Amino acid sequence: MPQGIAEELIDEIRQRTDLITLVGDYLKLERRGKNLVGLCPFHHEKTPSFTVSPDKQLYHCFGCGASGNAFTLIMELEKMTFPEAARFLAQRAQVKIPERREAPTAKERLQEKVYNINQVAARYYAYCLKSTTAGKQAYNYLRKRGINDETIDLFMLGFAPAGWTGFYDFALKKGAAPELMLKAGLINPGRHKGYYDRFRNRVIFPIFNASGKVAGFGGRTMATGEKEGPKYLNSPQSPVFDKSAILYGLNLARDEIRRSKKVVVMEGYTDVIAAHQAGLKNAVASLGTALTEEQCRLLRYQADTVVTAYDSDSAGEAATWRGLAILQATGCLVQIAEMPEGSDPDSFIRQFGAAAYIKLIEEASPIIEYRLGQLKKRYDLTTDQGRVGYTKEIMPLLISAANRVEQDYYLKRAAEEIGVDENALRSELKRRRKDKNRLPEEQAEQDSAVNLITINPAEKILLSLMLQSKEIADRGRKLIESDYYSDPRVENIFREIWNLYAAEEVFTAEKLINRLSDPQVVRIITAAATDPALQDLEPRTAKRMAEDSFSKLKRAWIERRQLELQRKIRELTAAGQLDQIDDLLRESQHLISGNENNPGRSGEGGDLSG
Ligand SMILES: [Zn+2]
Repeated sequence: MPQGIAEELIDEIRQRTDLITLVGDYLKLERRGKNLVGLCPFHHEKTPSFTVSPDKQLYHCFGCGASGNAFTLIMELEKMTFPEAARFLAQRAQVKIPERREAPTAKERLQEKVYNINQVAARYYAYCLKSTTAGKQAYNYLRKRGINDETIDLFMLGFAPAGWTGFYDFALKKGAAPELMLKAGLINPGRHKGYYDRFRNRVIFPIFNASGKVAGFGGRTMATGEKEGPKYLNSPQSPVFDKSAILYGLNLARDEIRRSKKVVVMEGYTDVIAAHQAGLKNAVASLGTALTEEQCRLLRYQADTVVTAYDSDSAGEAATWRGLAILQATGCLVQIAEMPEGSDPDSFIRQFGAAAYIKLIEEASPIIEYRLGQLKKRYDLTTDQGRVGYTKEIMPLLISAANRVEQDYYLKRAAEEIGVDENALRSELKRRRKDKNRLPEEQAEQDSAVNLITINPAEKILLSLMLQSKEIADRGRKLIESDYYSDPRVENIFREIWNLYAAEEVFTAEKLINRLSDPQVVRIITAAATDPALQDLEPRTAKRMAEDSFSKLKRAWIERRQLELQRKIRELTAAGQLDQIDDLLRESQHLISGNENNPGRSGEGGDLSG
């Protein structure tokens, strides 16, 4: 049950959300018969098995079994809880949700406070940049680097004055507690007593999280020389800031990324700012030399193509390659925009102009192409040693190829480079593929596949039919006893169906899913509700199938019960407790005779198919 959000609102969100459009925000879909299919976002695949039904508003993957509705999709893809996903969808569908009433946790309260003090600080720095004499120098510095007023406002750029307590005094006057400023990483404790500002005499770049809240700051010194400390200074880790899990500019780039399905990843603040100003609105920065796995995860479902535009000297970072390999393995096309030696996006744009830069991004080469070129430069392919090293390094690249055609193409090229038979290379690849082709996620998914719900075919049929017909559901409620279910979770599903019918004549499987949170349960419902063999049946056929399934459920239970009774009778006989056997024998006899009649309890309800 969704905490804090009224059921009517959930209904409204559901009615105003189209699953096809929603899925379309994340992946490409194409029509196949009544449904649409695409590459599954939950497992690595090269042919589409992720199926979305427009009629039912459900999705199901025939590869990994992932399934559900709009709400579960967002929960999974955006890593949200149900209420978060509901809010996300509400905003998208422009449904207003009143603020929740239950108290936020201590952690959430602290985070909210840190965001607030960060916002105060960002405003303070922005004010200092534009309206103080001390800020004039920083402002001129930015203008000289080609950053215009509009961009300064868009990125909320600022200036931290040189004094030791400018911000601290300001915030204190505003009533902020020093401890909070400390937690936010805005001040440092003094050596003897008191506090001093962390950022001093620096141009300030507020770092926003994906939803546009100020999570932290980056400060750049304008001076050169050891005395001024590091060129860049970031906020420390805080309750809302984790440098490795945030992408600078993502809040501004999100719409364009979703529209173009492409993201350009750069290294620093000024690169992103220059790119946005030049019209490249899908640029983000990794705030460090390497792109982390966490950051790749942020991008994974938002773009089909990830272009990296790093400084030429830091493009070789091992961590970046790991991140890119993960992206590539999830079906993303990864490209490298090769910068001329010694230049970064910011300096390139200033030197050659926006158009030249956009062209450079458009002409980015696929990661394999780029890496092969690099390796060729690094190894001397005229020696055995060089060829061995080269072969060893190209293998993971070939394995990560987006598809067979691409793999074959590069395999042939590599074989030519080193002058070996391509079949030799191919069998080496095959050998390595065997132990490497499983993604860590797939491994985890298989590991968690314990404690699976067992639903028998009769239950599955009834689940589907009851969703389609209140009459069959009513009949089920009369006929199915608690003991008949193969798993208590199946019983739970059935009960929820009857509860829904008690409230309304007709409802969808999609609605049912929202009431049950267990992903396995969701999977079972979706599978039953989308099984083509159980759809659009003639009413007579449906009723006949239902009756047949009721009987089967009961018979299965009788068989289980008979075995149990026989076992008990044997035990009691062996123990000589014959006086206790009578009841069991009578029950056993009763089961046998009951089974020959109607599957239902005697006297209740007529047969549907009659
Ligand atoms: Zn899948």
